[in-house]
Amino acid sequence: MSPDIPAGQQAGTHERRASDSLLRTLADSVPVSIAYFDSATQKCLFANRQYADSNGWTVDSIVGRTTEEVIGAQAWQAIEPHVLRVLGGERVTYSRALELPCGDRRQIEVNLIPHFSTAGAQIGAFVLITDITRHFRVEQALRESEERLRKFATATTEGMVFHQHGVISDVNDAVLSILGHVRDEMIGRHTLDFVPADARERVFDYMRSASEFLFECEVLHRDGHRVPAEIIARTIHRDGQNHRLVVLRDITERRRAEARIEYLARHDALTGLPNRSFLAERLEGMLALARRREVVAAILFIDLDNFKTVNDSLGHQAGDELLKEVAGRIKGALRDADIVARFGGDEFLIALGDLGAPGDATRVANKLLSVISAPLALGGRQIYVTPSIGISLFPRDGNEVDELIRAADSAMYRAKDSGRAGFQFYSPSLSEGADLALAKESTLRAATANGEFVMHYQPQFAVEGGRLSGIEALVRWRHPQHGLLAPAEFIPFAEARGMIIPIGRWVMHEACRQVRAWRDLGYAVPRMGINVSGLQFRREALVGEVAQVISETGIAAADLELELTESCLVDNSATSDKLGALRRLGVAIAVDDFGTGYSSLSYLKRYPIDKLKIDQSFIADVCAGDQAAIATAIIQLGRALGLRVLAEGVERAEQLAFLRQQGCDDVQGYLCGRPLPAAQFAQVHLPPAGFADA
Ligand code: C2E
Ligand code: MG
Ligand code: MG
Repeated sequence: MSPDIPAGQQAGTHERRASDSLLRTLADSVPVSIAYFDSATQKCLFANRQYADSNGWTVDSIVGRTTEEVIGAQAWQAIEPHVLRVLGGERVTYSRALELPCGDRRQIEVNLIPHFSTAGAQIGAFVLITDITRHFRVEQALRESEERLRKFATATTEGMVFHQHGVISDVNDAVLSILGHVRDEMIGRHTLDFVPADARERVFDYMRSASEFLFECEVLHRDGHRVPAEIIARTIHRDGQNHRLVVLRDITERRRAEARIEYLARHDALTGLPNRSFLAERLEGMLALARRREVVAAILFIDLDNFKTVNDSLGHQAGDELLKEVAGRIKGALRDADIVARFGGDEFLIALGDLGAPGDATRVANKLLSVISAPLALGGRQIYVTPSIGISLFPRDGNEVDELIRAADSAMYRAKDSGRAGFQFYSPSLSEGADLALAKESTLRAATANGEFVMHYQPQFAVEGGRLSGIEALVRWRHPQHGLLAPAEFIPFAEARGMIIPIGRWVMHEACRQVRAWRDLGYAVPRMGINVSGLQFRREALVGEVAQVISETGIAAADLELELTESCLVDNSATSDKLGALRRLGVAIAVDDFGTGYSSLSYLKRYPIDKLKIDQSFIADVCAGDQAAIATAIIQLGRALGLRVLAEGVERAEQLAFLRQQGCDDVQGYLCGRPLPAAQFAQVHLPPAGFADA
């Protein structure tokens, strides 16, 4: 646009009209609002259609109006400073919001350009207005989204890094706390500077391929340690360029939890030793190596001999302590390369990967025997546990893991059978031992079915007055080949195989039936003591069965006394409930073999107990030293708690004299009467009913 054209004063000639018309056409076709104002009068000399329209004028009516008239007083107020500046000869650009007469809101950019005559005097000003609404809105949206992003970036614990071709342009606070850097140390550096050398290639590939999938890699903390991270990146297009936004999550905690879960799945929680499944894995590896190197390997199977007693009498917590201690001792006795695992319960398994000679296994077994058998302090007392150890050798006793474990296991049983606290090597004849046990189990089952058990009865007498105060029922097995067998020969076996349950049921029924039968024959019958094994006692059904037997045989509950060992009287609510129910039924409770358990004795006050039976091991030498002290203490304890005290195994007159002197209530033993079959017992010991009452 020529600066001289808008001079309206030059009107008149044909050329001028032509050029006016050309100007008008041009001005009306550009997408810009155009106007020209005279500097002296500030009146509009020219406006294109768009300018006139947008201010509510026509191209003719606008001419001669002042700026204020054209745009209205309010807008004038807003732009007056700009106008003053252009009148001062300055080129001015500004942008402002504009409300169109139709109510539309637009954003415009205004350029005010001073116009000078050739002489250099200011004669007017051009106004060029561009509608930048669309551009403005895009920019505003961008600003808002950046604002949102910034807020989000500061609020999240996920690290965010912006980079372009690897060069970091921005980071959020979370990245700084994950990596331990301050912002200035990161901006402008390459992202790979924060990745450990061995992971750089992988990260570089990820960046180069503009990948957007989640991947895990380690990043470097300022102090040099590696931080496990989960990373996902996105490509963002901006200003015609590709930027990368990297979101980085610190997964240290998750990794730690995963490692812990993995550890727990492979280790025994109590002892921290490898568990059974991890053991199998490691044994496979060990055997593979032994096969390759053609060396001898050994498996030692360890079972603790008296763990159950400790566990039952001192409680599970003490049992756990014991297992931990034993695990520690076993580990301490072996080399790091040896494998030690808890196999379950009180069983441990040890694998020695490379024996110089089979004799090495003997040396290790001896060492284990001595470290495990050393006394240990548990709950303020000295406990002794011993191991039974079975040993199998690779390749002599088997080629596979399972085979070798089975062999070591059966060797362990032989060690138990030969008196415990020792070790045995596997020998093929051991599997015959297993067959024998099986045969024994089936004959014992048959014995139950064939009625091969018989009861013998032993009398108990009151020390004062010598009256028959009770009877103990003792079972025997009339074996078709071996004759009459004592309980020691089959009760432990029956307990181990669970067969004590049917046997115990038969015993209870038979003893109660006998009481009733004797009564029917006219005898006075005192209370009948029946031995109840731990397994029987722990069964839910016990109380119901006792009640049933009483009603079936027609005796009174008061005729019955259950003999329990200390290991039954574990401190828990089930024990307490069961004893309470038996007491309500009217059955008496005696503690058998008293003094041989590891009990804390606190149960004596808590549980409804009627009688203590001092174990015969304390009576054998009762007239001398220690045993006298123990027996005396038990008698006094019983008296203090209001319990009857009976001494078992009284064989000699001086024992009886001592017990009488100490105030023991009852005695049982060969001195006064051996266990006898029912008929003989009645003849020797039972008085006729009327006689006893007298
Ligand atoms: P226990 O309950 O302590 O029974 C007492 C044991 O001492 C009996 O042995 C008895 O014969 C024996 N005995 C009695 N007086 C003397 C004596 O003066 N000197 C000696 N040296 N021993 C004497 P038995 O009959 O061999 O029973 C052994 C154990 O077997 C019993 O010990 C009891 O624990 C268990 N038992 C017996 N019958 C049954 C039963 O029906 N069920 C259960 N679960 N266990 C039973
Ligand atoms: Mg008994
Ligand atoms: Mg006893």
